[in-house]
Amino acid sequence: MGVNKATPWVSELKHTIWELGFISATLHPFSMKPIQEIYPLLLAPRKVVVTMHQKPDADAMGSSLGLAHFLTKLGHSVTVISPTNWADWLKWMKGADQVIDFELNGAKALPILNEADWIFCLDFNSLFRTRHMEGPLAKANAQRVLIDHHQQPAVEYFAYGISNTNKSSTCEMVFDFIVGSGHVQLMDVPMAECLYAGVMADTGSFRFPSASADVHRMVAVLKDQGFDHTKIHEELYDNYLENRLRFIGHVLQNRMEVYYEFNTALIAIPWKDLVKFQIKTGDTEGLVNYPLSIQGIKLAALIIDRDEEIKCSFRSKGSVDVNSFARNYFEGGGHFNAAGGRSSDSLDQTVQRFLKAMKENALQLQ
Ligand code: 5GP
Ligand code: MN
Repeated sequence: MGVNKATPWVSELKHTIWELGFISATLHPFSMKPIQEIYPLLLAPRKVVVTMHQKPDADAMGSSLGLAHFLTKLGHSVTVISPTNWADWLKWMKGADQVIDFELNGAKALPILNEADWIFCLDFNSLFRTRHMEGPLAKANAQRVLIDHHQQPAVEYFAYGISNTNKSSTCEMVFDFIVGSGHVQLMDVPMAECLYAGVMADTGSFRFPSASADVHRMVAVLKDQGFDHTKIHEELYDNYLENRLRFIGHVLQNRMEVYYEFNTALIAIPWKDLVKFQIKTGDTEGLVNYPLSIQGIKLAALIIDRDEEIKCSFRSKGSVDVNSFARNYFEGGGHFNAAGGRSSDSLDQTVQRFLKAMKENALQLQ
């Protein structure tokens, strides 16, 4: 899976160091220089690629386009590449129509990747999250720059970067980057709209604990640009087709099991449901949150048979650590209360594995 994967003892050592808390938000061993060291270099024009994780959400796409608009204004030649396609409800963002889909158009994306001076990697912590782009990304001559808020980043792949799991969103970190580099006067409406969309989505509309005072201060600065935040909310959340709502009704009625003894709920969706309801990229976004609205539920899981693979999503409340859960059982990871993973077993086998894992974690779930 991994390209240039570190030997097991190196990665164990790194995890031990992480666990001991020796690594601050900006200071990483094993090569990644603090992002601030790029600030003085920003004034010389370069060929830049900005990329994000596969099936980008509002934070991945918003931070990438926000940064791309900023770097373009500074005089760089910027191309945004997404590893895969993205949801229709992100297409309103300025510049979304120029984003290259690597899976669809690799022939166009590859030379641009290979000729780039810098590749900014946004909203993901390991190259594996870029699917078929993992190899080309690892091989590119460019200096890779990380801006991300997921746990346990693979820092050895990046020349410069910042990883801060306390940040609400990568959009907040791009905002910090723009302010920190001394160019906040370049902020404009399209940039502000992109960044607002991502921070709104990743904070559950400013609901999660990560919606700090800093986040609200940033939103005030963005709002000063004068965009319509109600419209952005509608673009993201009131922009589906009827079939998606019917699908949710079906799924909640027929595909959800609640395990009260373990304060857990699971939604498992077979491929045939996706076909029947004509579900497309982005239609299942947010579905995993529904079970968390049941009194007492601390862990919600969504397992979907996407035909090409089984995709898992986990959300939790309080002290239930789904980053570790996804990492330990489902080849994934993410944040403490929101994480994802995958399985190469059948849907039934994956459900059985999930139930076993749930029982193994019974204590944490009480
Ligand atoms: P989702 O369930 O929406 O796919 O993902 C929840 C969160 O976990 C998002 O921040 C997403 O980027 C992250 N995530 C999803 N899958 C993976 C994975 O395989 N590895 C890591 N490290 N993060 C993931
Ligand atoms: Mn994010």
